[in-house]
Amino acid sequence: MARLYPLEKVRNFGIIAHIDAGKTTTSERILFYTGMSHKIGEVHEGETVTDWMEQERERGITITAAAVSASWTKTYEPDQKDQAKRFSFNIIDTPGHIDFTAEVKRSMRVLDGAVVVFDGVAGVEPQSETNWRYADEGKVPRLCFINKLDRTGASFERSYASILDRLTKNAVRMQVPMGEEGDHAGMIDLLTRKAVYFEGEMGKEVRYDDAIPENLKADVEKYRAELVEKIVENDEAQMNAYLDGKEPSVDELRATLRKAVIANAIVPVFCGSALKNKGVQLVLDAVVDYLPSPLDLPPVKGTDPKTGTEIERKASDVEPFCALAFKLQTDPFVGALTFFRVYSGTVTAGSYLYNSTTGERERLSRIVRLQADKREEIKEVYAGEIAAAVGLKDARTSHTLCDEANPIVLEEIKFPEPVVSVRVEPKTKQDQEKMGIALKKLSDEDPTFRVAGDQETGETIISGMGELHLDIIVDRMKREFNVEANTGKPQVAYRETIQKEAEANHKYVKQTGGKGQYGHVVLKIKPMEPVAEGEKVKKNVTREDHFEFINNIKGGVIPGEFIPAVEKGVREAMERGIVAGYKMVDISADLIDGSYHDVDSSEIAFKIAALNAFKEAAERAKPVLLEPIMNVEVVTPEKFMGDITGSLTSKRGTIDSMEDRGMAKAVHAFVPLSEMFGYTTQLRSMTEGRGQMTMEFHHYAVVPTNVAEEIKSSRK
Ligand code: GDP
Repeated sequence: MARLYPLEKVRNFGIIAHIDAGKTTTSERILFYTGMSHKIGEVHEGETVTDWMEQERERGITITAAAVSASWTKTYEPDQKDQAKRFSFNIIDTPGHIDFTAEVKRSMRVLDGAVVVFDGVAGVEPQSETNWRYADEGKVPRLCFINKLDRTGASFERSYASILDRLTKNAVRMQVPMGEEGDHAGMIDLLTRKAVYFEGEMGKEVRYDDAIPENLKADVEKYRAELVEKIVENDEAQMNAYLDGKEPSVDELRATLRKAVIANAIVPVFCGSALKNKGVQLVLDAVVDYLPSPLDLPPVKGTDPKTGTEIERKASDVEPFCALAFKLQTDPFVGALTFFRVYSGTVTAGSYLYNSTTGERERLSRIVRLQADKREEIKEVYAGEIAAAVGLKDARTSHTLCDEANPIVLEEIKFPEPVVSVRVEPKTKQDQEKMGIALKKLSDEDPTFRVAGDQETGETIISGMGELHLDIIVDRMKREFNVEANTGKPQVAYRETIQKEAEANHKYVKQTGGKGQYGHVVLKIKPMEPVAEGEKVKKNVTREDHFEFINNIKGGVIPGEFIPAVEKGVREAMERGIVAGYKMVDISADLIDGSYHDVDSSEIAFKIAALNAFKEAAERAKPVLLEPIMNVEVVTPEKFMGDITGSLTSKRGTIDSMEDRGMAKAVHAFVPLSEMFGYTTQLRSMTEGRGQMTMEFHHYAVVPTNVAEEIKSSRK
């Protein structure tokens, strides 16, 4: 088998948008125009293709990051039937809501470029900024699409200005809209100076017209000059020619623009109306023209699991196979799917995969590719492509799958720790077991969602990134697994840590008749230093993000076989906490001394000794409670500003900045999560329903003493 699309014809891209900007509608149109979708379902009819989870349709939020495959020939290509002119698309879905930033981050890892969709009335909205920052972090090349130009109140100019003002100075107009609101008829492509109209069913026929409406001619010339200057700045030869009065050809300009977009030096801005079928095809042309293929990107980096040395893999079919599992999802037709992106080499159905993250092998029995309306079974996946494995059991999000003879571990996708938890209880006793299975499945799919049991009460506690995140989990439990559950009040996921170094010497001895017990450890604990990137971990150290265990035992004063029991004791003590029973983090524990007994020593004795030693040391190490601090943004009409800042300050918040946001004001503040429950309702009543809020986890901070006392007494 050979690949149908050479690597340079592959585009892996995502569509990023604030909720309601029109991502679903745009994705739908894309699937329709790419010829994969036979009928087009409107969002309000609940018939979309990417949103196959019922409740997503209801909430209008795309939660999952499924990848859909399609193909495209540029509209200005003279021979539309020529297979050599066709490009392969893998469209990676990214959610818009802030509670799902983990999903956005995850998708940024596997996509090579993105189309950012804006609402032409609202322009840049708070979450567009957050997602933009994630794309910046991932250095993801982008195009912008200002959608909904048909809506009353829409303005291309204002939306474009908000992009320049709040997201990037590198943005540049590629088009001028022909009419807005009710008069929106199409757009003028600045590079070719052509008017573009969309005709036939769902606007699928793109018509280029050399005649530009008279009233737009001056604008077109002005903005075209701006665009051309911005492009030629990126190429010295073109720049010099341009300054000499010789403008490069349209193809030359496109080539330079492509390089500039890939280098993140230019962000081209397009416009239209997905709902009224205007402009989407030109965005797809731009995906081909300006977004990178896997070949345009640097080789992927990883480490050799045996030697720890860094290795690189080029996007090429002849390199050894390596892929990243980036999403687990249950498909209603095929079952459990593991989406993976192949970075190098190829893989065939029926072969074995080596999971270098876990060291396990697993058979890859079937591979599918999701298309708009079907699941296509495929035999082989090539470098740079995205597909889904059916029925893998052990692979999880962020695991590396590779060739066993040439192992590599790709950089893990880092997810934030959950900050909110609630107790859940099935409505009927019979549902207990079903609930367990459902929660296990859901947490396998979503690395920011955790399930734990409360050992004292036997209750189940679920934790996630926000109230909405947990609401949706409970909702999915009901819809997908038929388990109805009652939930408690949302609780903040506090943490504990220590503030100074301390040491404890604990001997656990029992020698009253029968076999005795003997374990003795001397433990030194201290606040853990942040770990420098790429720093080598020494042989005697176990290190995780928030914990480090160092074995400094010399001369076998504690035999090697008991060391793991000591580490286990320390971990257990950290789980239990010391101030108010919350998990302890950011501690480095150093086992410096101890002793053993030939007959009486056992793993359990060392574990208990370690647990007690840790507790004693922690009590002396200035233990404190930590709370999640949220980055809050409120957008409000100016007249409510005083009330808003007052309310945030009274919630122990610190106001970080205030700025104009179009006709309104935006306030940024850092506020403890515990103070923010129910704030949306309060905000609504303070602002006559006109204020809007978003928040995301920012950092953990020490809880002030008086508040800590309250938390402690509520836990008693
Ligand atoms: P998402 O939340 O970003 O996926 O947005 P949707 O695609 O679900 O769109 C949200 C709402 O805006 C729906 O009611 C759409 O019908 C509507 N919508 C989407 N695109 C357009 C557009 O171009 N013009 C207008 N007037 N409405 C649109």
